[in-house]
Amino acid sequence: MHQLKIAIDSPTQIRPIILQVAVPTPLYNHFDYLPPPGTDINQLRPGIRLRVPFGKSRTEVGILLAVVDQTHVPLEKLKAAQEILDSTPVLPETDLDLLQWASNYYHHPIGQVISTALPPSLNKGQLANMSFLSGWKLTPEGQATQVDELPKNAHRQKAVLNLLQQYPEGLTQAAITTRLSNASSTLRNLEKKGLIVSQAIIYTPSTDDTIHKTSPLALNAAQKQVVTQVSNKLEQFYPCLLDGVTGSGKTEVYLHIIQKVIEQGRQALVLVPEINLTPQTVNRFKQRFTVTIAVWHSKLNNTERLQTWLQARDGLASIIIGTRSAIWTPLAHPGIFIVDEEHDASYKQQDHFRYSARDIAVVRAQRAQVPILLGTATPSLETLYNAQQQRYQHLILPERAGAAVHPTYHIVDMRQQARRESISQALKKAINQRLAAHQQILLFINRRGYAPTLTCYQCGWVAFCAHCDARLTYHETTQELQCHHCGDIRPPDKHCPKCQHPKLYLLGQGTERIEEHLQNEFKEARILRIDSDSTSRKHAMAELLERIHQGEVDILVGTQMLAKGHHFPKVTLVGLINIDGGLYGLDFRAPERMAQLLVQVAGRAGRADDPGQVIIQTYHPDHPLFTHLIRHGYASFADAALKERQQAAFPPYTRLALLRAESLEPQSAMDFLNKAKAQTEPFLCDSVQLWGPVPAPMEKRAKWYRAQLLLQSSQRDNLHRLLSQWLPKLPSSTNEVRWSIDIDPQDLF
Ligand code: ADP
Ligand code: ZN
Ligand code: ZN
Repeated sequence: MHQLKIAIDSPTQIRPIILQVAVPTPLYNHFDYLPPPGTDINQLRPGIRLRVPFGKSRTEVGILLAVVDQTHVPLEKLKAAQEILDSTPVLPETDLDLLQWASNYYHHPIGQVISTALPPSLNKGQLANMSFLSGWKLTPEGQATQVDELPKNAHRQKAVLNLLQQYPEGLTQAAITTRLSNASSTLRNLEKKGLIVSQAIIYTPSTDDTIHKTSPLALNAAQKQVVTQVSNKLEQFYPCLLDGVTGSGKTEVYLHIIQKVIEQGRQALVLVPEINLTPQTVNRFKQRFTVTIAVWHSKLNNTERLQTWLQARDGLASIIIGTRSAIWTPLAHPGIFIVDEEHDASYKQQDHFRYSARDIAVVRAQRAQVPILLGTATPSLETLYNAQQQRYQHLILPERAGAAVHPTYHIVDMRQQARRESISQALKKAINQRLAAHQQILLFINRRGYAPTLTCYQCGWVAFCAHCDARLTYHETTQELQCHHCGDIRPPDKHCPKCQHPKLYLLGQGTERIEEHLQNEFKEARILRIDSDSTSRKHAMAELLERIHQGEVDILVGTQMLAKGHHFPKVTLVGLINIDGGLYGLDFRAPERMAQLLVQVAGRAGRADDPGQVIIQTYHPDHPLFTHLIRHGYASFADAALKERQQAAFPPYTRLALLRAESLEPQSAMDFLNKAKAQTEPFLCDSVQLWGPVPAPMEKRAKWYRAQLLLQSSQRDNLHRLLSQWLPKLPSSTNEVRWSIDIDPQDLF
């Protein structure tokens, strides 16, 4: 065994060098190693990657956390790391600190936290190198040249100069030849004249975009005030709730503030809730800025992710736009954090390392001492509470930008319908009016597929998933039964498997069935369905959106995908076909979610010259949520909801943690949680309450039986003290029973 020793204090006192390494395993905080043979001690800086032996025959890529001279492992049992992978740290110290904080706060092993934050290729041990593409850029002479000065018939040269003058940082050869075919010889001629030079261009997923620039819009008074207020605080932690109705110009505000941040030579990190919103947001940013904009989302390949990550870390990208996990991109010069649609549930990771990207963004802004904007038309109650407590600035954009006005609401009592029809007479009439006026219609239904239930009227049999406590949904496009919880697929039964009756019935409505119904009802209308099935192909969503914007669609039918962030200027009627399911949800957040969805969907309607109309079909027309929301608006609804939360001692007035367990045997998860609960005994204090354990409402899912134990406290510190004393005492997950802790859980069920 290799042992490297150096003299530190005196020649007689030899101390070992111990490397504390974060390794991506669920077990411990860190693992101790000796340096590899022949290591230069100066290389051992926290944040470098090491390849280390792990277990019997495996190796892992770990990150050096610290170099110390003590370990609880007997020295002769320590193994040496095999290899140092980086000459300089891949993770800057501030980011390593942040990840340590996140590991403590979420009670999740540091090795797994770090591997979540690193791009996959770095986790695999590949080099942390930037890729370059060959490209071209104007010389100072080229910049000074008036295109008209070129010979009259030099059309191609003029075109290239024109193009490059729009891109001061240069363009890749590929981008130029996409625009102007056979440009190669023209490029060489211009190079000979000294007007352009070849230039290595940093590879980005969208290096080859050529987008027309637009100028900033003149801000209205409310926008101006927000921009001034935030721009005056760029040097400090300045958390803001930017509370503006849909279309009030929040994005325009981001663009103006980011302009100021860039002028200071600093970077902006912008989070958007959904992958389908990234291209739309990125385009809008590209139209405005000439700086490098890096993109991060789950559909990028590993090379693309590494490039984005490195450009952010090294300060080469001024703007980084991405979905949830983009919150982990390191920034050389952080200038502002922006979380768009901050209320969106997708910011909370729902498995493994269950972090909230929105909350991490606030922590990062505080550590970097820069502003953070939490933008939304429907603030989460947590954020609203922080604003009420004056921890956050509450900035309001009260009106839609331009001349557009708020939509009007109309509730249809479905109990009064003659037949149990999915589309009421009132909605039908409104659709016909809009069709006649050549306007677009958006119909919302919160369920994909054709029908959520396949049943036998003879004996009452219902098609259930073999692995979950859930019904199977029939999909007409694939002619299959699908489980929306575990993804299982099987052909539909031809006759009842229980009583052999030959006829089975499909009950309920999904997007596919509504689409079919509409096509029969409105024969001439062009109908488009948007749900995760119709948009699963890469670029599918972009293509569908393009058709909508080009006016090639009359009626849009879709799930909540449509409710998020998209602008449909031609839509003047929004119909909510059946949202009753969300009215009596079990989760204490159900009313909040429902109100947000309603306001967000409704926000898609209406343009400058045609106020939008919203029709809500319901069997509960007197439900207080509707009446409150429609009569008094979201702010008033949220005030009332906060009071209820206070009375019930729920967040944001208390803090929650949820210990989840699941097992292959029916009782084992509950047994585990009962034992775990007993183990809290020595650490309990008055301010922490335990509830349960109880089986999850959908107890069986993907073959696992699930149960949960809820911890609730009015004192965050006390709750976290208990967790850090108690969780390490719990037995590790096994193949039979596995557990995880969810801090600030979003879904209790
Ligand atoms: P939000 O992000 O709040 O939904 P956007 O910034 O996307 O709002 O603005 C909505 C629409 O209004 C966009 O079409 C945008 O171009 C336009 N808009 C925003 N600000 C202004 C302004 N000051 N003057 C005119 N139009 C504006
Ligand atoms: Zn039957
Ligand atoms: Zn299933």
